Amino acid sequence: MKMKGLRQIKPYVAGAQPQDKKMIKINTNENAFPPSPGVLQALASFDGQVLRRYSALENNALRDKLAENLGVNRDQIIVGNGSDDILALAFLSFLNSDDAVLFPDITYGFYKVWADLFRIPFEEVPLSDEFEIVTTDYINSINGGIVIANPNAPTGIFKDLSEVEAIVAANQDVVVIIDEAYIAFGGESALPLLEQYDNVFITRTFSKDAALAGLRVGYGIGSPKLISVINAVKNSYNPYSVDLIAEALATAAVEDYQYYERVNAEISETRDWFSAELRALGFEVLPSATNFVLTKPAGIAAESLFEFLQSKQIYVRYFGDKGRLSDYLRISIGTQDEMAKVIQVIGDLFV
Ligand code: PMP
Repeated sequence: MKMKGLRQIKPYVAGAQPQDKKMIKINTNENAFPPSPGVLQALASFDGQVLRRYSALENNALRDKLAENLGVNRDQIIVGNGSDDILALAFLSFLNSDDAVLFPDITYGFYKVWADLFRIPFEEVPLSDEFEIVTTDYINSINGGIVIANPNAPTGIFKDLSEVEAIVAANQDVVVIIDEAYIAFGGESALPLLEQYDNVFITRTFSKDAALAGLRVGYGIGSPKLISVINAVKNSYNPYSVDLIAEALATAAVEDYQYYERVNAEISETRDWFSAELRALGFEVLPSATNFVLTKPAGIAAESLFEFLQSKQIYVRYFGDKGRLSDYLRISIGTQDEMAKVIQVIGDLFV
């Protein structure tokens, strides 16, 4: 029997999550290090009795801790079930214009998926030949909003704050969403813009810099006006999206920020070492301000290298036949030992 009302969409193919612990899994930009000692302690001492009740609707404990750490007020923060949740809510809450939302043609793949899902008109703006976001393309354009990942993904390239400000300043009649999922590894945050502009909304995640991808916590920072709009949408859709365990552990992570500063600095160092090693093999490596690199192999096709690495239990990201990206692999930065092993395995191909 034919059924009415079923939504027909092509499912988004998220990064694969093979669970084999022996594998060097460097395909979805997780942190190379374990969560901080304080987070593990908070997990061990969590009182399971409290799970009888719903989680805190407003998540004030976590929002207060974040506000203190970021130097903003509680009413400038919303927390959610990963930054995917916050970004999807931002699309639902801020991009209801008839004009097209602009985002780069190579960026986080979910933007297009959400625009399609929520029936938001959009336009993908090409990157430059060097894979850079061209500032002027976002200035003096009629649009229904702008979404930019800074640093961008999967290129890893960051935009100077002055250029982000130029985009925000030129588009004060719409919301500019800045996705800062990778900001802990390089680049310049748009946080200072909050003092002057109420149309900027920044998203962040605990998945990358706080080594908590499996916990699912992300947050958004914006003017009280934007936060009250997105809060209303969140509370109309999934009010208790951050569970009690997630809130306790994420709060402990913010308290342990010095641990994370240390391990993330180490990841950035390993990234620079790994990039230099790849370049020495003749590979093109885009300048990365993140915990991954986008690289075009030399002497072997990207897809073949992807398959070869997989046969050696090393799992990186190949995007398939996607225009310019089909010549590239995205490789997350693991520990120094893991990345040395990757270099050794690739090097062996060419001896
Ligand atoms: N933005 C970007 C640019 C990302 O790469 C990711 C992770 N794949 C996310 C947002 C979402 O991360 P999470 O939902 O784990 O916070």
